[in-house]
Amino acid sequence: MGVVGLACRECGRRYPVEPIFVCEQCFGPLEAQYDEGHLSGSALRDDIERGPTSIWRYQALLPATRVPEWDLAPGFTPLVRAERLGRAIGLNHLYIKNDTRNPTWSFKDRVVAVAVSAAQRFGFDVLSCASTGNLANAVAAHAAKAGMRAVVFIPKGIERAKVVATSVYHPLVVEVEGTYDDVNRLCLEIGEEHHWAIANVNLRPYYSEGAKTLAYEVAEQLGWEAPDRVIVPIGSGNMFMKIYKGFEEFRRLGVIPDRTVRMTAAQAEGCGPVATSYRSGATEVIPVRPNTIAHSLAIGSPADGGYVLETIRRTGGAAEAVTDAELVDAIRLLAETEGLFTEPAGGVTIGALRKLAQTGVIGPDEVTVAYITGIGLKAIEAVEHVVTASVTIKPTLASFEQHVLASAGALGGE
Ligand SMILES: *Cc1c(COP(=O)(O)O)cnc(C)c1O
Ligand SMILES: [Zn+2]
Repeated sequence: MGVVGLACRECGRRYPVEPIFVCEQCFGPLEAQYDEGHLSGSALRDDIERGPTSIWRYQALLPATRVPEWDLAPGFTPLVRAERLGRAIGLNHLYIKNDTRNPTWSFKDRVVAVAVSAAQRFGFDVLSCASTGNLANAVAAHAAKAGMRAVVFIPKGIERAKVVATSVYHPLVVEVEGTYDDVNRLCLEIGEEHHWAIANVNLRPYYSEGAKTLAYEVAEQLGWEAPDRVIVPIGSGNMFMKIYKGFEEFRRLGVIPDRTVRMTAAQAEGCGPVATSYRSGATEVIPVRPNTIAHSLAIGSPADGGYVLETIRRTGGAAEAVTDAELVDAIRLLAETEGLFTEPAGGVTIGALRKLAQTGVIGPDEVTVAYITGIGLKAIEAVEHVVTASVTIKPTLASFEQHVLASAGALGGE
C-alpha cells in the first residue's frame, strides 16, 4: 500500500502527491488516497505485529514510503484500564489511552512524525507550523532529530513550560500578538507567498493522517476490536476525524469486526463551537473567540468542525462542554484515581466524560476509551493554585510528631 494521490473531501477531484491542501475547484480540504492493493485481515495484523513499537508499525496505512531513518519513535503508548476513575463516575469498562507518554508528551508527535517524512520527501529544509503550543514543541524536537531547521508560530500567552520545552531544541519561536486563529491565518498567507513546509497547513493531508494511529493502537490493544465509544478533545477536530477514519479503515480491511464506534467530542465552554452547535441542532459551526485555560483546544474556528458534528450524529455519539473550574476538577480527579497528570485538554475530556456518564448519555456498560492527549507538567498554571499546600517542618522528630502525625491520621495512618 502507498499514497497514490490526494482527493478533495467535498467534490472528489484528484490531485498528485504534492505539498498542497485545498481543492482549486471548490476550496475543500484534500485527503490522502491509498492503493489498498495487497494486505488485509490477518495478513495485515501479522505485518503490524512484526513491526516496530512505534506508529511505524502501521506504516502500510500511513503516507510514508518507509520507516524514517532519524526518528523519535512516537506512539505505542499504554491503554490503561481505569477502574478507580470508572467507579468514581459510574462506568464499568473505562480505558484511558495515555498519550502523554510520547517523545514531547502529547499526541502531536504522531502527526509531526508523518509531516517530517512528507517534508523530506518534498525536499524541504525548514519545518514550520501554526501551533497552540504542543505542535510547536513536537515540530522543534522532530526537526532537531531529522536535522531540519524549525520555525514555529504560537499565539502570545500560552503556558510558559510549552514555550521553554520548545525553545530548548533551538527552533526560531515566533510569538504572534493574536489568537491561534490569527496565527493560523498568518501561516496560510506565508504558505501562499513562500515555499515553506508548514506541517498543519500545506502538509496537512499527510500530517493529519498520523492521528489515525490513535485508533489503530486502541484496536490492537483491545485484542483487535474497536471500543463501543471513544471520547476525544476537539481543537481543530483533526484528531477526532482521523480516529474515526482509523477504525473505519481497520473495519473495511477486515482487521477488526464490524462495529460503529460512538464518536464523542469534548470541548471547553470557553471555546465550544462544536458542542454549542450539537446542542442547538445546528449543522454549521459558528466561530467563537476563545476564552479558556485549555489553550491547546483554543481554536475558535475549527477546520474540521462541520465534519465532527456530522460524524457525532451519524455514529450516535455526543458532544459535551465543561467550564474551566470543571476541567480543573477533572484534572485532579484523574490524578487522584489513576495516578495520571494531564494538561487542561485531558481535564476537558474527563470532565465531559463525567457529565455524560452522570446524565446517562454514556451507559455504564459501554466499553469506553478516553483519549488523554497531553501532560500536566507543561501546564502547571492550571492547577498550581488549587493543589493542597505542603507542610514544612524542622528536621526533628518533635517537629514531625507535632505537624505531620495529626494530618497522617487524616490520611488513614495508625
Ligand atoms: C492539539 C491538541 C488537541 C486537539 O487536536 P486537534 O486535532 O486540533 O483537534 C488536543 N489535545 C492536545 C493535548 C493537543 O495538543
Ligand atoms: Zn473540491
